[in-house]
Amino acid sequence: MAKERLSLRGLVYCQNCQRRLTAEVHPRGEYYRCQNNINSKCSERYIPVKLLKNQVETLYNLMEPTTKLLKLLKAEIEEVQEIFQAKSKNEISNLKRKIAENEAKMDALVDNLGREKECLKERNCWSNT
Ligand SMILES: [Zn+2]
Repeated sequence: MAKERLSLRGLVYCQNCQRRLTAEVHPRGEYYRCQNNINSKCSERYIPVKLLKNQVETLYNLMEPTTKLLKLLKAEIEEVQEIFQAKSKNEISNLKRKIAENEAKMDALVDNLGREKECLKERNCWSNT
């Protein structure tokens, strides 16, 4: 029970000296206190467990919309990425097809050129376009 109530122990730090806060149970209540406080090197006061818990809960509630928003953004980014990937694949296959077409045209041209050469050599060619 007490363990659960003091669940922030080890997770929270002194805002004054950045040392870890420890939890203490007093007859008048439960407190977090700075570990540096004992030698009175740090002036941070004892913080009631309830107060800190409420603050953390408030912070968490403030953060929750952000978490939802981030999830939403992530999903949207992934969707856009998928669309782009699909488009890129499409473009790549289009380009490959065009390259193949151009190669075929080049082959045909080279063939024609070869034939033209033969014609010129033999001087007996009929116009073949
Ligand atoms: Zn401190």
